[in-house]
Amino acid sequence: MNDNFLTPAQVYQMLRLTPNQAQTLVAEGKLEAAGRISFKHGIMEMYLKEQVQALVECMPQIKRRWNDEQAARLGAKKAAYIREKQWRKAQILKTRKLYFLDSLSELPERTAAIFRVCYYLYHLNHYAKQQGHAYLYDYKETILYALWKEQLKLITLGYSLLNVFFIPGAPRIHLCLDCRVKAQRQGLSHLEFLRAKEHVCTQCGKEDNYYSLYEFILENDEYHFCFHLPYASARKWLVDFNIPEKESAAENKRDGFSAFGRPINEAEANAVELQEIIEELEMFLKNS
Ligand SMILES: [Zn+2]
Repeated sequence: MNDNFLTPAQVYQMLRLTPNQAQTLVAEGKLEAAGRISFKHGIMEMYLKEQVQALVECMPQIKRRWNDEQAARLGAKKAAYIREKQWRKAQILKTRKLYFLDSLSELPERTAAIFRVCYYLYHLNHYAKQQGHAYLYDYKETILYALWKEQLKLITLGYSLLNVFFIPGAPRIHLCLDCRVKAQRQGLSHLEFLRAKEHVCTQCGKEDNYYSLYEFILENDEYHFCFHLPYASARKWLVDFNIPEKESAAENKRDGFSAFGRPINEAEANAVELQEIIEELEMFLKNS
């Protein structure tokens, strides 16, 4: 791709849009993807700079129309109330962001840089959960790998911020033809069939560790972040290390592994823009 194209993050920044609002713009036929880049975890759609630039001027008008439409739908009073509530939420998040980033200045430089990138990675996770943004998991993997390498350096200095754990999970079973026929006859989905009985069949394919995870905990006395990567993503760079095992527990479902977590909400998308996140992550990679 060349200079004529913009990434979704650049489009959101230029038009001051959340991903949801951009989707509305696409649905209305005012914005359309003009190219795509393949990532390991998904496709990133690209937009023509010319088209986006032409929209900059129209945006205030379009946003006013969206507000009018919302008012017609919900009543003017309720629509205004919702907008104000969202705006307040965004202001609170912006204040919290400044407070958090500011608090890092007390820390040694590298430690501050690490918790700073954790903050942005935490929000990247929520963006990645947004429909059409799975490609962002490529960034997550790259950053956690960089943090792991950083940790290896820190260890030699007798210092540690990162702990990695292995959380064993079930294999994925691919039903063989016989079992598929049996499941169909019993009117069960593949998953229901596997659950309905102790499934022992040597013909069925089995992908070990499919649901296993690596857990990355970055913490010191004041800060705590927790991220997960699927086994297959981090195995190649962790396989030579003795990674302690951890029981799968409910608390592991809190943060950002792709199967859990939640997509970014409007207030959050206003307070922490995707383009800001990407620039922060790239800066961290450049300096690590
Ligand atoms: Zn089978």
